[in-house]
Amino acid sequence: MGRAKLQIVGDAWDPHVHVEVNLTRAGADVRNLLASTFGLVADLPAEVETGCGRRVAYARTSPHPERVTCLTCRRHASEQHRQFAEDLASMFRMPGVLDVHGADAAKAVARHRDLARRFASAD
Ligand SMILES: [Zn+2]
Repeated sequence: MGRAKLQIVGDAWDPHVHVEVNLTRAGADVRNLLASTFGLVADLPAEVETGCGRRVAYARTSPHPERVTCLTCRRHASEQHRQFAEDLASMFRMPGVLDVHGADAAKAVARHRDLARRFASAD
């Protein structure tokens, strides 16, 4: 009893748009970066775990700060992007780890810092 059923009921009335729990790994730009660097491409899942601990249809999540209405997910996303920007920055500083052009690396770091800021703001 209980947990699975409660989650289904919860999904039915949950009006919020969430983020994926691993949103920085799942993001399209990361997927493209990995695809061009390592030849890896991940399939889109039908259902994903969210930053606030639910499981929802992939369509109920968004990587865009303007679309995510779940506050717990916004906080989660902001922290994930902030952390990921730092991870990228230190990864790109190590010579030979990733063969990415310096300007592209700086752009990727700046984009995740910008996303962290936008998820952190309430607007
Ligand atoms: Zn959420």
